Amino acid sequence: MLIVFLGPPGVGKGTQGSRIATHLKAAHISTGDMLRQQVEDGSEIGKKVSSILEAGKLVSDDLIVELVESRLSQEDAKERFLLDGFPRTIFQAEALDSFLAKRNQEVTVAMLLVADKEEILRRLMARAKAEGRADDTPETVAQRLDVYHNQTKPLVGYYEQLGKLQRVDGVGTIGEVFDRLLKVLDESTSASESTSS
Ligand code: AMP
Repeated sequence: MLIVFLGPPGVGKGTQGSRIATHLKAAHISTGDMLRQQVEDGSEIGKKVSSILEAGKLVSDDLIVELVESRLSQEDAKERFLLDGFPRTIFQAEALDSFLAKRNQEVTVAMLLVADKEEILRRLMARAKAEGRADDTPETVAQRLDVYHNQTKPLVGYYEQLGKLQRVDGVGTIGEVFDRLLKVLDESTSASESTSS
């Protein structure tokens, strides 16, 4: 079960991604978490990316693809993973596909968590006020939403064309959204098993 988890910032990908991954015993790979960790550790990569993260822009495709490929090569990510925050560009999606093709694998399903613009803005602003992450300030929220619309949203069409896209309503309690996600995952797994047999 190789899951790509898509959706705008603030839609609840992090919360749901980690719950779903735990439930499926899959590796939860959040590129945002990986990069924040590098910044916290003060590594070379961390120094390179910290201002980019704070500005709400995307780090370079080459850098993130290399990080993800090395993470996916670890034992726990060979059969089951949930990618949260990656891919974010068509380049990254194509890189992921060719990386997986070399291991005779492909993405099982791309789950798109959706919520309307007002709800997203409301959640992001609430998070910014609660002084969560360094990039959750009102200034960078707009930037991150712009980046999502311009660079990441095209992935919806990309996975749709491959017949792998599933849209899930992200509005509701954590439990409600989780149940919806599980239902869609169940359906996708049985569909992909019946096509591969
Ligand atoms: P996230 O926690 O997924 O919202 O990611 C936080 C920040 O990390 C983003 O605003 C980007 O600066 C960077 N980032 C995370 N994932 C990627 C990616 N796949 N490509 C480029 N930059 C990324």
